[in-house]
Amino acid sequence: MQPRAASGERAQLSPPPLVVDIARKLVKAGFETWCVGGAVRDALLGYEHLDWDLATAATPPQVRALFRRTVPVGIEFGTVGVLDAENTMHEVTTFRRDVQTDGRHAVVEFGASLRDDLARRDFTINAIAYDPLGDRIEDPFHGRDDLERRIVRAVGAPEDRMREDRLRALRAIRFASRFEFEIEPATWRAVVDSAPHLTRLSRERVKQEIEKTMDQVARAGLAMRMWKESGALAALVPALADVSAVTLRSLDLLPRPGGSVRADRAMQRLIALFADLPARDAERALRDLRFSNKDVGWVGSVLRAWSTLDREMALTLAAEAPPPDAVLRRWAGITGRVRSRAVWRLAAARFAAARDLHQAAPDPRQVASAYRRAMRIAFRDPIEVGDLAVDGDDLRTAGVPAGPVMKTVLSGLVEYVLEDPARNVRDELLVRAMSILGES
Ligand code: ATP
Ligand code: MG
Repeated sequence: MQPRAASGERAQLSPPPLVVDIARKLVKAGFETWCVGGAVRDALLGYEHLDWDLATAATPPQVRALFRRTVPVGIEFGTVGVLDAENTMHEVTTFRRDVQTDGRHAVVEFGASLRDDLARRDFTINAIAYDPLGDRIEDPFHGRDDLERRIVRAVGAPEDRMREDRLRALRAIRFASRFEFEIEPATWRAVVDSAPHLTRLSRERVKQEIEKTMDQVARAGLAMRMWKESGALAALVPALADVSAVTLRSLDLLPRPGGSVRADRAMQRLIALFADLPARDAERALRDLRFSNKDVGWVGSVLRAWSTLDREMALTLAAEAPPPDAVLRRWAGITGRVRSRAVWRLAAARFAAARDLHQAAPDPRQVASAYRRAMRIAFRDPIEVGDLAVDGDDLRTAGVPAGPVMKTVLSGLVEYVLEDPARNVRDELLVRAMSILGES
């Protein structure tokens, strides 16, 4: 392939008009201004991108003087947020040069050229600039060729660039998996060499990368496989160092067809990522990564239910006959109503992943039909204490003492109705309560 001209070609990208207005105002005031970064890359790939960032020769005070409404997003790094007529914020960043780096943070210097600014960017595909007024591309590192060849390649010497900022190792993997590009060999070697140094990244950063991966990457399993193969996973989440092929594959199979909201998919994938581990180890690893107590608790509780049910579900669903309602109800009793969907989605993804990898697992059609029935049952039948036709007051009145005995009676009653929901009538439950009381 002929390398293309570094600049000058017409590109006809279409940044939002309000972004073009901002660029026009800066240029009119005498400041060179370009669209840069992810939006240019995505537009060239034919994807929509919502955040069009601008790079300009104007300094932050000059940008702030020019626009009525601005937000000091990261002044020390040269970034000013400019609010457009519709109140959307666009980042305008002064051309800059890194003068000093420490593995994550850089000291930047203004008064740089566009070329300097592009040279400090991480990958060639992220270092393409677009002039929205003149419809020209500036591409000194041949990022468009790499987009065409589907390659993630560091700008400049990969070793040096990753030493400057180790986060770039994780970003390389995220971009490669997101676009299903190859990582250029020298860049990949630098990723691998970075792995032992990744522990210097803050936990919050690592968490953020995991979340972005789960959120953005269609084949999140591919991304995590690269985390594993590069050594990043062992360094950053030691509990997952030996994560299984089934687990990695299962990430690509969430959500199931039918769709779900994005945040839900990301959380479901997080659960799936930790599904090889005992719930307690998963919780510890997630706490280490600074996930919120709410998220840690949720993942842990789903995994606890899953570890109780996984073998039984695999065996039961592999049988010829569909599982009876009573079995699905009992499973719902174990998962609880709120977790039932999450456990089933995990099960379905893991079974499908196992089959993909030629391991024994239930037939997806059998799983899908049981899943549908299980959802109906979980949201229709009595499966939890709160669903019982009697409550604690009723039982106390009938002579059941509060405390542990009450607990035993209530869970005995739940078991009783799980076998047959028609038993969930007050009188029948009171009779049953007395007999449990007699036994305990
Ligand atoms: P996304 O769609 O994930 O936002 P993006 O390319 O816009 O992708 P950002 O993290 O928003 O990524 O960064 C915007 C641009 O800033 C990148 O395209 C790249 O040019 C530059 N950049 C971001 N982080 C780094 C980094 N750690 N090292 C060098 N350049 C970076
Ligand atoms: Mg971005």
